[in-house]
Amino acid sequence: VDPVAQAASILLFREQERQLFVVERARSLRFFGGFLAFPGGKVMAEDADTEFLAAAGSGLTGAARPADYVAAARELFEETGVLLARDPEGKFPRASECVSLRRALVDGTESFKQLLKRARLAVARTDLNFAGSLVTPPFMPARFDTKFFLASPPHEQQAEVWPGELAAGYWGRAGDILHGWQGGNCLVSPPTISILEAVRAAGGQSPIDALESLFQRALRDPALPIQLSPGVELIPLRTAALPPSTHTNAYLVGTGPVYLIDPGAAEREEQDRLLALLEDRAAHGRRLSGVLLTHHHADHVGAAELCARRFDVPILAHAMTAARVGKIHVDQTIDDGERLELGTSLDGRPDWTLEVLHTPGHAPGHLAFLDRRYGVLFAGDLVSTQSSVVIAPPDGDLTIYLHSLERLKSVSGCRLLLPAHGTTSCQPSATIEQTLIHRARREAMLIELLRGGTGDVGSLARQIYEGVPDALMGFAELQVLSGLEKLRREGLAQKSDTGEGSSWRTVP
Ligand SMILES: [Zn+2]
Repeated sequence: VDPVAQAASILLFREQERQLFVVERARSLRFFGGFLAFPGGKVMAEDADTEFLAAAGSGLTGAARPADYVAAARELFEETGVLLARDPEGKFPRASECVSLRRALVDGTESFKQLLKRARLAVARTDLNFAGSLVTPPFMPARFDTKFFLASPPHEQQAEVWPGELAAGYWGRAGDILHGWQGGNCLVSPPTISILEAVRAAGGQSPIDALESLFQRALRDPALPIQLSPGVELIPLRTAALPPSTHTNAYLVGTGPVYLIDPGAAEREEQDRLLALLEDRAAHGRRLSGVLLTHHHADHVGAAELCARRFDVPILAHAMTAARVGKIHVDQTIDDGERLELGTSLDGRPDWTLEVLHTPGHAPGHLAFLDRRYGVLFAGDLVSTQSSVVIAPPDGDLTIYLHSLERLKSVSGCRLLLPAHGTTSCQPSATIEQTLIHRARREAMLIELLRGGTGDVGSLARQIYEGVPDALMGFAELQVLSGLEKLRREGLAQKSDTGEGSSWRTVP
């Protein structure tokens, strides 16, 4: 079971203008870098100190702990400069005082507790309206149980982001931010989208009721959609993927037609969960039209037949995948350059399509899919943001794989890379470049070892993949073999068969 960290987040809401304050996460952050979100962060041990809290404010909802209130106030102050704490007369500090207090906090010269004490301030629970909580779904690299609070900014203060972990921050109406997102002008984190939709739906009413019902709905199954891009939902499924991965990302894309990419779940329970989710989405107007396979590996196809049969829709894949996928029947083969209709995108523009890219190397029939409208690349197993991709001969070919990576790297206008394993990347070409650099390093190591003398695949793998568990050594050896085959093709290495097996050396 993944550990779930406690977190708190604040929806700063200007009643009159009906605006919320959103922050843009720095692009360099591993988790949803470049995405818009609400201010917030982890609850820290020091937040549990009740000295922070004014005595008043009991009788409020009990689902949030005192530490959650303090963490919310602390994170809000650090990220936006808005300080929801009052002096003994019940007054908020002024903007100028906030700036110097914030500087001390950011510099680390004072803790939140110390600065509140010095300024004779305390957080009042009545200033933070607890709305509910959201728990990050399983299989995400970092999981949080986030308590959300709704608060009004004190009129004497100003919200302002100091660049660092956050790149920017601004006020906007929920509808306007969603409109910008649907038009492809910004990235918005999935829980933020759900919250903005709830606030927009509240119309002129106070958003608290809409938020409470959203958080109630989140507790039920199927979970709230994890929307990564307009019309693109992530469905992480537990699969028998290679360690360290425990799951495969399936993606539901389109408004009508709607395609499901790589439903890999093989266990009954996980398949049932997927079907229930698809039924729910169908009831909300997104009925499945087809199943797309990036390639034939078991952790990508486990529920393909099941989904196709349940909704009476075809399975689409490359011909070379169709030939390798065992008992699964591919109804329609697709190839490089073809476009699949996705209907009208969420911003109302027609002719939204998914482009098919034949990208072999990991598997001969490997396909990537490209949504040019929003710059979203479904990379399958070509890139993993979690570990390196196994290139296992004879199906895997390192030379061809590197060509496919170079091709994907050069796709222009791409701003989101969605891999089958690991997190979303908002810097697709940089992520692909890192994969290329990693491969080049491995190759340099291999050449270095061969220069030092001859070696068999097993001993080379043990030297390059030092510390890899024995159970995975077979994959390490295949990885080395694909590297050796590449060097042989380039005239840099040669194989000689001895009585004991084969050994490799550099070409003199
Ligand atoms: Zn694979």
